Amino acid sequence: MDIARKNQIAAGLAEVEKRIAEACRAAGRPREEVTLIAVTKTYPAEDVRILAGLGVTEVGENRDQEAADKAHACADLPLTWHFVGQLQTNKVRSVVGYADLVHSVDRSRLVAAIGREAVRAEREIGCLVQVALDDDPGRGGARPADVLGLADEIAATEGVRLGGLMAVAPLGEEPGKAFARLRDLALAVQAGHPGATIISAGMSGDLAEAVARGATHVRVGTALLGRRKPFVR
Ligand SMILES: *Cc1c(COP(=O)(O)O)cnc(C)c1O
Repeated sequence: MDIARKNQIAAGLAEVEKRIAEACRAAGRPREEVTLIAVTKTYPAEDVRILAGLGVTEVGENRDQEAADKAHACADLPLTWHFVGQLQTNKVRSVVGYADLVHSVDRSRLVAAIGREAVRAEREIGCLVQVALDDDPGRGGARPADVLGLADEIAATEGVRLGGLMAVAPLGEEPGKAFARLRDLALAVQAGHPGATIISAGMSGDLAEAVARGATHVRVGTALLGRRKPFVR
């Protein structure tokens, strides 16, 4: 193992832990209410292994091919895999093979496809409805008006379990304001589905704002592993 890299990641993890603990304290929430998901996209399986050695149990990825390879290489580790990227239906079979939760469920066809493949694989996949907190459909996410309906569909579909909601803060708006709308939607979903307790919000730049608005899961990449090299999709 690369000791220098391990020390670097350990330092990043300690810093992120400090920020989460501080945000919880400021919000008057117990630290255990917030789960850290390490988003490892563009970083190698060796980094996932280092994170696991440091006690991280939740890993997030956003592209199927890369995630599939990494999950396979790390199959011996006790990890929960979160798929957080936009998902095409033709990738669903592959994603269902390794992901425990899909955070980016934003349309009916995707619910049906995940359910079908999960039943086929004899798995149960946690699904979060991704909410578009702005009006830019290009970035993924269901419109707020469609969220309750989609949640009901997930809850009624075999092979999937409704976990809750996910969002990315919109560009050009104070993230706390957007996360407050997400929390209100999450409470509306929970009124009908009390088990749908997950609010996946907050990344390296805005995790404190998300924790202040009730996030239960923060998805952190850069602050743990460093700045990603730009890549072409
Ligand atoms: C990359 C990514 C993250 C992590 O972002 P950072 O700013 O690097 O912490 C979180 N959520 C999603 C959906 C991502 O694609």
